[in-house]
Amino acid sequence: MVFEYFSSDYNEARDKFLGAARAAGASIENRLNPNASGPNGEELYTDVARFGPDDAKKALVIISGTHGNEGFCGSGCQIGYLKEGLHQNRSEETALIFVHAMNPYGFANVRRVTEDNVDLNRNFVDHSKPYPVNAAYEEIHRFAVPKVWAGGGLEEANRGLAAYAEKNGPMALQGAVSGGQHTHPDGVFFAGTAPTWSNTMLRSIISDHMSDVDHVALIDFHTGLGPNGHGELILNGDFRGSCERAQSWYNNEVTSFEDGSSTSAKLTGMMCFAFLDVFAPEQLTGIAVEYGTYDVGTVLTAMRFDNWINLYETPGSDLWNEGKKAIRDALYCDNDEWKALVHERANWVLDHAYQGLKTV
Ligand SMILES: [Zn+2]
Repeated sequence: MVFEYFSSDYNEARDKFLGAARAAGASIENRLNPNASGPNGEELYTDVARFGPDDAKKALVIISGTHGNEGFCGSGCQIGYLKEGLHQNRSEETALIFVHAMNPYGFANVRRVTEDNVDLNRNFVDHSKPYPVNAAYEEIHRFAVPKVWAGGGLEEANRGLAAYAEKNGPMALQGAVSGGQHTHPDGVFFAGTAPTWSNTMLRSIISDHMSDVDHVALIDFHTGLGPNGHGELILNGDFRGSCERAQSWYNNEVTSFEDGSSTSAKLTGMMCFAFLDVFAPEQLTGIAVEYGTYDVGTVLTAMRFDNWINLYETPGSDLWNEGKKAIRDALYCDNDEWKALVHERANWVLDHAYQGLKTV
């Protein structure tokens, strides 16, 4: 049954993933995050399961949990692939590499961000260069992170955000908040001031596993944008170097913020740059599969709430628990109908990636 692929916490997801990968005959690596621990002090790992020859010329990389607790969804998709034997459908020349819980801190602690409050999918910038400026975030930071999460203070903050959207348009607000910012470590969508552990770890997976590879297909599972249960395919690569190819692989369904076709605002520092630092734009065909949960307002409020409790609230308090439930629910619809849609789309995506890889 589809719903059995999904898990109620990181430990269960990890056990299921490792069990399914082992049963399928994968070679497995466990990468310990030395900077983070789980809610009960437990060790946290990103797990890598690999199939295919060591000198493979093509690689299909499937990632879950880039955004922490979005991994409830992506982990279920990965486990479904393994349990249903879909790893066997790859062509022999292709390495199939699963990366489970890219951001294990966020997955285990039910947060979208990493242990250093970083949005991992904004962290892949060149940290030796001046950071991209998000001037709009400066304007709204105090509303995104109010001093109190109740009563008049919260209402004033929400009014501030609403006024910004009224003046500049809702997409401008989404861009200001979610585009990524390097100036406020206590803020939302903080992109960091150094490569975070998961960033460095992904780069080491690329160098350890893909030195002979000529073409990478990348699938990174996300949640929280778009209509409930719909899996939008957002280009996760160089627009000029890969959009046309991605369209031909995925039935012309690929969207991009570069041409305004995506529900995503324009972002900086996305994970695809870890690949584009090693591979030419023509060598990467990457997509993020973005599953809708609730409306943007609900999701952004939950992210602000989670950020707020981690700054100001004691773990286990009523408000803390309320915030935890909000961020969990905002990024994962824990019902069978949603999971069935997610699973069906994930299998469709994998099949198209296999077919596409045959053409390069
Ligand atoms: Zn995401």
